[in-house]
Amino acid sequence: MPLATPYYLIDETALARNLERVDTLRAASGAKCLLALKCFATWSTFPQIAPHMDGTTSSSLNELKLGREKFGGETHAYSVAWSDGEIDEAIANADKIIFNSVNQVDRFGERAAHLPVGLRVNPGVSHSHFDLADPARKFSRLGESDRAKVEAAMDRVSGFMLHCNCENDSVEAFSTLLDQIEDKIGDLLLRLEWVSLGGGIHFTKDGYDIDGLAARLKAFAEKFGVQVYLEPGDTVVTDTTTLEVSVLDIIENEMSVAIVDSAVEAHMLDLLVYRESGAVAPNKGPHRYQIAGKSCLAGDVFGTFDFPDPLAVGDRISLLNAGGYTMVKKNWFNGVAMPAIAIRRKNGAVEVVQSFDYADYVASLS
Ligand SMILES: *Cc1c(COP(=O)(O)O)cnc(C)c1O
Repeated sequence: MPLATPYYLIDETALARNLERVDTLRAASGAKCLLALKCFATWSTFPQIAPHMDGTTSSSLNELKLGREKFGGETHAYSVAWSDGEIDEAIANADKIIFNSVNQVDRFGERAAHLPVGLRVNPGVSHSHFDLADPARKFSRLGESDRAKVEAAMDRVSGFMLHCNCENDSVEAFSTLLDQIEDKIGDLLLRLEWVSLGGGIHFTKDGYDIDGLAARLKAFAEKFGVQVYLEPGDTVVTDTTTLEVSVLDIIENEMSVAIVDSAVEAHMLDLLVYRESGAVAPNKGPHRYQIAGKSCLAGDVFGTFDFPDPLAVGDRISLLNAGGYTMVKKNWFNGVAMPAIAIRRKNGAVEVVQSFDYADYVASLS
């Protein structure tokens, strides 16, 4: 019997393809790669991922502890703002701690002095197609942008974190951005032991010039005498995962609308946040449908796609690229049944690794 929908389906073979590219980059560049857990934290896959990466980076105490407990390797602790209540536990679980401002270095740096301490610096330049995700947007709080304050803290930090890219799939664009960063803060970079260049570089994409990226990273590392880190999230899991859904009803209202047993806001939230369409394959054929969710939100739409045959109630649809920023954001809006999480092993067997029921819904509220 096929698995009941909805469920996220992670494909080990596809993940292995991306991880091979991560390995290629690490070997050719000397950069260390840490998985950004804010993008993907489905820990059942960590035994497959961990041997191909150097550890994890985090954006909260919970992610930090998950990385330490389930992934291993180097565990970088970063938060936009650590609180008094969590800082000691963060320090206890971290291999490096990265503060977002000099204020936070002033408050907590002393307590972390036995660890490598880093500072997120905002060089004021970025590559992002979305203002919402642009770390250099006006009034940005992401990283210290006051150069005088950074200079005054240099003797208390051994590294910088510079996260300036979002969905950057061009080596040229990345390299140009790095040129600008070198011009702006190169004198400070010379005084460091390590630099994390953050995430947002889509180097596992087919056709991406991994050798070109590796050469650029290597040149940067040599010029400034630093260990380079990258913090890839999305690119590690791109095109590895689908959201498997079933058609529940088909409504005619000037076009054919197929309602499926999922909801965009609850299960693929970023499609709404970034006003993007989901994807199906091959998306070809004479039968066009809007694929819509079962929540009460009028705009609960995964996208409009073409199918080779007419859809019928009970048909299954695979929504593509459902790995990054999906499972970490899923929620109980409308009480819609939560997708299970399944893994397609390399031998083809599909194994459910997590499922959710009414008790989980109840436990999420009080
Ligand atoms: C979001 C984020 C990442 C991961 O970004 P991806 O686009 O998923 O590669 C890495 N580092 C920091 C600091 C981030 O905020």
